[in-house]
Amino acid sequence: MKTPAFAEPHGLPNDPVLPAYRDGSTLRVWCEHERTWHVHGLPAGPRASHCRCESSPLRGGYDLEEAGPFTTAIREQHGRERRGSHCPTCGPRQKH
Ligand SMILES: [Zn+2]
Repeated sequence: MKTPAFAEPHGLPNDPVLPAYRDGSTLRVWCEHERTWHVHGLPAGPRASHCRCESSPLRGGYDLEEAGPFTTAIREQHGRERRGSHCPTCGPRQKH
């Protein structure tokens, strides 16, 4: 598979560009901080953050760059998803 090019950011300069995976009519982006998939509508581009954790580095928004279909392999590549309501990075004491 060809490596997607991230050469042309089109969001705000400070927004991180994240690979977004196509799942039907939605795009899924992995949030490492919260260890969960945030789901957005098409098309790719700048988005307001879906992060619920106030400490997430993605809280300020991000720019989606379509990187291919959302497959089982892609899902497994990102590891275990969060369980429960607390942020897995910040721990159970902080409720977000
Ligand atoms: Zn998040």
